[in-house]
Amino acid sequence: MSYHIKLKDYFCSKCKAEYIPYEKGILCPNCKISTENIPEEYLGFIDELIVSLMVNKHRGGEFLPMGWLEASFADSIQYILFKTFYVWDNKKPKDGESFIKEYINNLRFENKDLYLKDYIIIKIQYVLIGKCR
Ligand SMILES: [Zn+2]
Repeated sequence: MSYHIKLKDYFCSKCKAEYIPYEKGILCPNCKISTENIPEEYLGFIDELIVSLMVNKHRGGEFLPMGWLEASFADSIQYILFKTFYVWDNKKPKDGESFIKEYINNLRFENKDLYLKDYIIIKIQYVLIGKCR
């Protein structure tokens, strides 16, 4: 069994872009307004991401799970991270951060979702830092 992060989908109050406000003061990745009054449940997202990666690694030996059902926005973000960390783990590049930036930049996103690239790259750095703690 894989670990799904259960979070209600969250949309920017101004531009309606979808993202997860995982820290206080975070800006909407699309229109850059600051996110006010973030419900507590979203603030544990990065920690949960790390847990979900570790669950995959310990149970299946890889950061990528055998099967994954994408039913929510959090699921899609998790899946991108799983794939990214899987490749990172297998290639073991010297400069992990640059490798990950390039990898995400080369992923295909629909035009309406392009704002997510930078958002995910920044988030991955949080996850990497979290892993090294
Ligand atoms: Zn916005």
